Amino acid sequence: MNENERMQAVIADLLQTLTVADILTAYSGKPGCMCGCNGTYNVTELSRTEASEKRGYSYDDEDVSTSRVYCVHLNKAAVAKLSELS
Ligand SMILES: [Zn+2]
Repeated sequence: MNENERMQAVIADLLQTLTVADILTAYSGKPGCMCGCNGTYNVTELSRTEASEKRGYSYDDEDVSTSRVYCVHLNKAAVAKLSELS
């Protein structure tokens, strides 16, 4: 295994265990400078404090949405599964 393959294996393992609790922010919008002028950053209640510290100013209540964080990261099939559950 070369370094690149080792790194891919590590990332694959990590992705298997990721939950929404591991996500700091989720960006939804057009690619670009990513400052937020072309889209929105959402945080969860859990990540709000850490994300605010990292950014340097607080996330507003309207930026806190676990469901929006989920939807940014899941494909259509996973979102369908999630909505079957709820
Ligand atoms: Zn910008």
